[in-house]
Amino acid sequence: ENLRQKVIKMGDVVFQADLETALRYSFKLEIASTKSISGERLQALINYVSVLVKYFPFGFYGKEFLVDLKEKILHAGDVLQGSEVNFWIREAESEDRKIFSSPAQWIGCQGSSKNYRGYPCGLWKLFHYLTVSAAEHNSGNPEADPHEVLNAMHGYVKNFFGCSDCSRHFQEMAAKKDMNGVVSLDTAILWLWMAHNEVNKRLSKDATEDPEFPKVQFPIHERCPTCRVNNTWNLQEIISYLKQVYSSINVRYIGSD
Ligand code: FAD
Repeated sequence: ENLRQKVIKMGDVVFQADLETALRYSFKLEIASTKSISGERLQALINYVSVLVKYFPFGFYGKEFLVDLKEKILHAGDVLQGSEVNFWIREAESEDRKIFSSPAQWIGCQGSSKNYRGYPCGLWKLFHYLTVSAAEHNSGNPEADPHEVLNAMHGYVKNFFGCSDCSRHFQEMAAKKDMNGVVSLDTAILWLWMAHNEVNKRLSKDATEDPEFPKVQFPIHERCPTCRVNNTWNLQEIISYLKQVYSSINVRYIGSD
């Protein structure tokens, strides 16, 4: 049994390696390759790093790195070069302190061949995780901003996501499905779930679909029998299920099960 088969058997599970690999990819390949970052783009970068500082499941050194990075970006002036961000990350990585706890490798997002899955899968998981983490961190806080993570995602996808079709579709969906109308941290979790299912529906049987990972409406009945009854989603059950799957205490490390 190979790693992929083992991972499939584990069900809807989030691996630290996938979250970290998505984060590395976004900084080192997408943000780093953006020549000049200013205005709306700079704000999008600040918003992205801000939600990572608050909600990404890093250990002590990882958190410290993100806090430092945010400070550097905030003090860089009106225009920042993507290559500067790349330099700061590589510099931090070369020091002895361990920022990342896993090798740069896809585990739950590994495709059956190199053309499939990987980064787009990692990016979805990262933002689902962040919406759930924001709800966990702010439970009982009436001041919390329910738009914080979705806005950061929207800004990231609009300004940095290398798949331009994906970016355009996502922006259209944010407008059409009223992303700004989200009223609570729980409905932010649901909005992203709904948006992702829309994309799954559109891409079902598409050439980009990994035959080993068909695009289905999430979650399937076997994983959460109470989430959909008589073809109707039970939104309260969906929230509970997503909070369980994308919870910090359920994030797995390679080798753990
Ligand atoms: P993914 O769809 O990437 O899902 C990753 C994992 O998330 C799944 O394995 C599952 O565990 C979980 N999951 C699935 N659905 C949900 C849900 N509803 N709620 C919570 N968790 C869920 N590709 C295109 O070809 N055209 C596009 O327009 C396009 N738009 C995109 C927009 C965005 C914002 C992103 C991040 C990606 C987009 N992609 C698009 C890529 C595409 O959605 C997939 O990410 C890619 O095809 C890899 O698919 P996958 O099988 O790894 O599963």
